Amino acid sequence: MKWNELLIRYGELSLKGRNRNYFVRKLKRNIETALSDLHSFEIKSERDRMFLYADGKDDMEEAIKRLPFVFGIQSFSPVAKCPATIEDILQTALDVVGSGETEGKTFKVEIRRTDKSFPFVTNELQQKIGSHVLRNFPELSVQMKNPDILLFVDIRLEGAFLTSKVYPGAGGMPVGSNGKSLLMLSGGIDSPVAGYLLMKRGVAIDAIHFESPPFTSELAKQKVIDLAEKLSSFGASVKLHVIPFTELQQLIVGKIPDGELMTTTRRIMMQIADRVRVETDALGIISGESLGQVASQTLDSLTAINAVTSTPVLRPLISFDKLEIIDLATKIGTYDISIRPYEDCCTIFTPAKPKTKPKLERVKHYESFVDFEPLLEEVIKKRKIYNLPRQEKDEFADFL
Ligand code: ATP
Ligand code: MG
Repeated sequence: MKWNELLIRYGELSLKGRNRNYFVRKLKRNIETALSDLHSFEIKSERDRMFLYADGKDDMEEAIKRLPFVFGIQSFSPVAKCPATIEDILQTALDVVGSGETEGKTFKVEIRRTDKSFPFVTNELQQKIGSHVLRNFPELSVQMKNPDILLFVDIRLEGAFLTSKVYPGAGGMPVGSNGKSLLMLSGGIDSPVAGYLLMKRGVAIDAIHFESPPFTSELAKQKVIDLAEKLSSFGASVKLHVIPFTELQQLIVGKIPDGELMTTTRRIMMQIADRVRVETDALGIISGESLGQVASQTLDSLTAINAVTSTPVLRPLISFDKLEIIDLATKIGTYDISIRPYEDCCTIFTPAKPKTKPKLERVKHYESFVDFEPLLEEVIKKRKIYNLPRQEKDEFADFL
């Protein structure tokens, strides 16, 4: 089926009052980016919807595959255009209905007639199209309320426009319309999901990862790069900052007692993240913590970790159960990457019994004997930055 245009609906966006134009412009740009390696599509936006003109280009099917991942779209429909004559409309109606599954489905025709000079009144036209479709698809039956297939025919001066399928969009808001934050990305199941959820609310992200070679492998890092790349497929490029953490971690292990070790490690990570955040013009820090999941994720631990910064730390998973997180990770395609069996830096240096109720004063006391500052600055300078998605075209095609 050769579609001529896509009708894109915004939903929540159209409620945004004075900011609406800004959101719509962002959405338009993100759609252009998501489709940038395809034919150049012309996109026109109206108050509550957008049209993407394709005029039967082959790339339309590919565009239909990609749009469900662009945040800010409520739903979209492929539209076929034909001359506004009854013969053309009847033929196109068959093509459009036949382009989807029809077995055992219910059906209804709806007409909008902006061109009042069209020779048939609405009821008459509805009848004609309906009976023509039923003659050709005897497995369909008519149902006026909630039909499976709603064939919508819009008759305008410039032609007739027919559509029957509504694809759900990803919802949310266009990435970048709500500023930028730095995601602490570990290679586990949780943090990529946390990044996804903030992107869904329009936040652009950079990511930071702490690696401890040779205790963590190249494959562990590759996993994090793949996760960041997966996140970049949700509407915006992602810069991944990889911090060489081994020396700092060894310093911590050497100087801080077992009970406070995990808390100090987290506090140091947070301080580094906060400095990288400033350099990248991000406003917040995102982490994948979920209350009570492990020792470092109790309210006492979070309090001790938070004490190093006044930057907002966004924890979208704080109230999620592990199974809910796994469900979402599976749905967005990060789960299979996250479960590749490579250790991350924290697992390796975790003491057998970290405290679930670390005392901030005690942690600060032990830390006061250690000068972390020179290493802190050094690892930030030595960080490696990866720009995702990677530029090779064939790889780009792979993950979509
Ligand atoms: P995840 O599945 O995201 O690894 P987790 O349940 O294993 O989470 P922790 O290991 O306690 O939890 O980590 C809590 C959060 O701290 C992570 O979600 C992530 O945001 C951040 N974090 C942990 N390790 C790293 C790391 N090596 N690099 C960057 N961020 C990290
Ligand atoms: Mg982890």
